[in-house]
Amino acid sequence: MDLLFPRECFQCQQPLDLSHPGFVCESCFNQIVFNRGSCCSCCGRVLDSDAKDTPSNLICSNCLELNPYFNHGISLFAFTNTGRAFIHALKYRNGAYLRSDLVRIMQHEQERLQSIQGCTFVPVPLHFFRKWKRGYNQCEWITKALLHCIDGEWAPILRRTFNTPSQTSLTREERKQNVKGAFMMKTHRPLDCTKTYVLVDDVFTTGSTLNECAKVLHQHGAQNIRVFTLAHG
Ligand SMILES: [Zn+2]
Ligand SMILES: [Zn+2]
Repeated sequence: MDLLFPRECFQCQQPLDLSHPGFVCESCFNQIVFNRGSCCSCCGRVLDSDAKDTPSNLICSNCLELNPYFNHGISLFAFTNTGRAFIHALKYRNGAYLRSDLVRIMQHEQERLQSIQGCTFVPVPLHFFRKWKRGYNQCEWITKALLHCIDGEWAPILRRTFNTPSQTSLTREERKQNVKGAFMMKTHRPLDCTKTYVLVDDVFTTGSTLNECAKVLHQHGAQNIRVFTLAHG
């Protein structure tokens, strides 16, 4: 198929080599702004001057205000240029073909993933109607790409109880109200308080969706809750 229809980069449409593993060319891949330096220990965003320095960890002003049910977070890259286009393609443009690039991104960040080695991974669910319409839940793909690179337990234990309108144009307070009560456990079995649960989402924006999910895990007995997102922005 590659010979008849040469693959091209999803972003710049440059034809790709037969040996190229995915759909993101080297030059576009290099434009992904990976989060480096001091990051908020709670959500993973790169800290700027508004950071409040506490003795053992650094927490951004958004997390201080959110006072979340999760206590640790990793976010791989900034929600800009290629990173942003990648997530949009994955989410809205039938991005199944980008799954090998997703694994490549995880492998690139392998070292940072060591802190969540062996955890229990919970993809943020879509409402069944939205999943049916889209045909997939990109958070499940992100979780599977993670589990390709590190050990851990696959635990899709949450479900979305109602179809919330898109969050993109909402303010922080509206986002919080929008997702309130939107998630529940699939079963009523209490969670294992000795496990570390990692919620997996595509983008960390205000954290309201992840926090609502974390609240449900907390109410069911989870003591140690973390978050993982591809991007922050
Ligand atoms: Zn490209
Ligand atoms: Zn933060």
